[in-house]
Amino acid sequence: MNFIVFDLEATCWEGNSNNKVQETIEIGAFLINGYGEEVKRCYNRFIRPVINPYLSKFCTDLTSIQQEQVDRADKFDRVIEDFQDWAEIFDEEYILCSWGDFDKKILQNDCKLHKLDDLWLMPYINLKKQYQDIRRLKKPRGLKTSVEIEGFEFTGVHHRAIDDAENLAKLFLKYLDEWRI
Ligand code: AMP
Ligand code: MG
Repeated sequence: MNFIVFDLEATCWEGNSNNKVQETIEIGAFLINGYGEEVKRCYNRFIRPVINPYLSKFCTDLTSIQQEQVDRADKFDRVIEDFQDWAEIFDEEYILCSWGDFDKKILQNDCKLHKLDDLWLMPYINLKKQYQDIRRLKKPRGLKTSVEIEGFEFTGVHHRAIDDAENLAKLFLKYLDEWRI
């Protein structure tokens, strides 16, 4: 069984007002086997959004992702096909893992938008929810705080998918035997 520990960044606006459609603009992921070993090099790609192709200043400030980086990127359908190959989802048993189900919802929306099958998103663990249960927390806790409380340094840039995924992988590995699948 492989664990696909991943994080996304998406188009966003201050307060995410006006119910605007959010689309993935970056995906970062680590592929980890049941022994806690990294199966291969991590995955990191930008994605060019199609509904709102221009990033808001709020989004650029939050994520540090620049307009040119998404302009140069492939659209969701191309990247996600490449991601599925990287994650070996057609060859191995797998489970997707993210910090909160926002990431899964955005991927579902993107699949719908690009008329792609979304059944592959079914094997899924919400690590944020499970971590809350494991640590018996009254309220869910943010990724950065959790990483630091667990004794790790939060490395890289928070709100960049590849860095968030790397820090999430530290937490994931610490509790490797405790996730309910
Ligand atoms: P994160 O993984 O925490 O970097 O968040 C993923 C995505 O959620 C970001 O790329 C934004 O689209 C959205 N997001 C996170 N925090 C905020 C916020 N404070 N306001 C609006 N959108 C946010
Ligand atoms: Mg993130």
